[in-house]
Amino acid sequence: MEIEQIKVGFMDVFCYLVSCPRTKEAVVIDPAGDEEKVVKRIEQKKLRLTYIVNTHGHGDHTCGNAKMRDLTGAKIVVHELDAPMLSSEHGRQMARQLGLAPSPPPDITVKDGDHIAAGDVSLEVLHTPGHTPGGMCLLGEGNLFTGDTLFVGAIGRTDMPGASSAQFMKSIHERLLTLPGETIVWPGHDYGFRPSSTIADEMRTNPWLR
Ligand SMILES: [Zn+2]
Ligand SMILES: [Zn+2]
Repeated sequence: MEIEQIKVGFMDVFCYLVSCPRTKEAVVIDPAGDEEKVVKRIEQKKLRLTYIVNTHGHGDHTCGNAKMRDLTGAKIVVHELDAPMLSSEHGRQMARQLGLAPSPPPDITVKDGDHIAAGDVSLEVLHTPGHTPGGMCLLGEGNLFTGDTLFVGAIGRTDMPGASSAQFMKSIHERLLTLPGETIVWPGHDYGFRPSSTIADEMRTNPWLR
């Protein structure tokens, strides 16, 4: 698979363009601003976007959904437990309060163990609740897209409504740190450290995992 990390919006979100070199089908993970920039890359690489996947339902990761779907026709995919954040008036209101464009309701919901495919690329859904009830990481070919669960040198917040720190630490320890050490970690925000890491490096250096 080919991975392009694109920093977007005003909240330092890392958006990912993941594509199949053979079929040119692609998935975008967490479009969250600068949609024209992302669409331009899709055009330059002659890709066909099939899915818009959100690692979780927070507005800073879903605010590009509407525009991205308008521009590409791709389908919006989110974990079933975070779908209400996109569908409910309450969720849409919360996004607006943060000055973010609300997402349309998802076209498809997924759960743990499901696969999201684009050509030869297949991303497995790892349900990692804690930051949100339907937070998920996506695993494919030794690459792990971690959203707001695991960052380079940091971990996600658990002080927001719907969060659970007990569930969160369980997700990290049982679902992520059990993956092979060489698994590449692609985080959901740029917090000024390196843009990516590995499970082994995080286990060694991330102060929150000790
Ligand atoms: Zn979040
Ligand atoms: Zn975030």
